[in-house]
Amino acid sequence: MKAASKADLYRKLPSVDELVHNTELASLVSREGQAAATDSARAVLARLRDEITSGRLDAGGIEIALSGIASAVERELRQSLSYSLRTVINATGVILHTNLGRAPLTASVAQHIHEVAGNYSNLEFEIDKGVRGRRDIHVDRLFRKLLSEELAGAGAGTHDVSTIVVNNNAAAVLLALNTLAEGGEVIVSRGELVEIGGSFRIPEVMTKSSAILREVGTTNRTRLTDYESAITDKTRLLLRVHRSNFQITGFTEQPRIEELVSLARKRNIPLLEDLGSGALIDLRSVGVNDEPGVLESLRSGVEVVTYSGDKLLGGPQAGILSGRSNLIARMRANSLFRALRVDKLTYAALEATLLAYVKHDHDAIPVLRMMRLSKDEIGKRAKTIAEKIRRPGLSVRVMAGESVIGGGAAPSAVLPTTLLAITSKTRSADELAARLRASAPPIIARVEDAQVLLDLRTVFPEQDETVAVALQEI
Ligand SMILES: *Cc1c(COP(=O)(O)O)cnc(C)c1O
Repeated sequence: MKAASKADLYRKLPSVDELVHNTELASLVSREGQAAATDSARAVLARLRDEITSGRLDAGGIEIALSGIASAVERELRQSLSYSLRTVINATGVILHTNLGRAPLTASVAQHIHEVAGNYSNLEFEIDKGVRGRRDIHVDRLFRKLLSEELAGAGAGTHDVSTIVVNNNAAAVLLALNTLAEGGEVIVSRGELVEIGGSFRIPEVMTKSSAILREVGTTNRTRLTDYESAITDKTRLLLRVHRSNFQITGFTEQPRIEELVSLARKRNIPLLEDLGSGALIDLRSVGVNDEPGVLESLRSGVEVVTYSGDKLLGGPQAGILSGRSNLIARMRANSLFRALRVDKLTYAALEATLLAYVKHDHDAIPVLRMMRLSKDEIGKRAKTIAEKIRRPGLSVRVMAGESVIGGGAAPSAVLPTTLLAITSKTRSADELAARLRASAPPIIARVEDAQVLLDLRTVFPEQDETVAVALQEI
């Protein structure tokens, strides 16, 4: 018998319309709608046509393909309608993993976002007066409680601190530099001209803000007199940048923040500190020693601080500017603030996070809870998982290790932890890690020294069972 020509094969394919009206697809079409089903039918038919054209599909192949065509449309539809942004299990032990969305949020955030997102709200409306309001008051109120009242309570003089929020800390630094120093000079130590993951570089942000960088000192040593002798009538700002993601050790020198404060006061120039992480509570008890807190910085007299919402604060992505009210008011009046502002969902998430701080419910904030876990608590969970895995050829060991904060924060902080170390007789560590990524939800682990390492510090306890099942099935 003569082989079917390609034209014969094309003719065997149903039309898009026939395919959508295939009785096997009736319930799918009524559930997901005619339009989505038509798109998927079109995609499946195009793929079959390509396979005929390229000769990959012959007369026998097309019969098989046609018998499964309804389920192919169903698969296509399910895939095209599924979310691209999905949850994963973070077993890396990196608490603020930038690639994995930095801070997971406290449970009340979802509830507050749910209400605010599906309804109208008083985002910019004063309900009692019936007039237009400002969106920043919703969190400024809570920041006042957490900052101004704390400072006043500690007898740190009158501290009228206000706070505004922009898209991220990079935006906060840009807004602050542009507002306080446009066209003028900003003095920065050469040891602080940092780059923070993926293109946030102080010299470049400076250029974009239309301020002029005036670098002083050297990479390892900068003295107060370096700042002092660089001050001219063009100087608008002194800038201190926290070395978030690296350390300089050895023969080093840097003026204390208090010394910079008194120099700034004496010369009547504002001092801005880019904190990066911005811890709202003291984290020394969990081994984070070199992260200046927001309160600490304001208490020592820094006039404006900038920090991220989704680093040590444990909230949504945001850039936060806290400081002297008259300076913050100037930032708010800058047209850049309008361009960098955040939406109601961010305000809702931030407000719910800050309320947990106001209530001193620090365990409600996942990143704070994870930081405080001891290696023994983690070890108990690791052992429970290890004991469940019975798989010939697969070795699961429990061993001591270290977690890191991540997200360009606290590079020297060491959090002792307990790891699950997985090796296989038949598969490489990279293969094992790939298999864990292929489970549902994907499990992301570290690969080190030819073994897969799982750190349960960043795994929610209710996910332990899922991890155990995935390991058993690896
Ligand atoms: C992380 C960081 C930034 C950038 O913050 P994003 O919120 O990621 O934009 C800027 N400065 C410092 C010192 C940082 O640590």
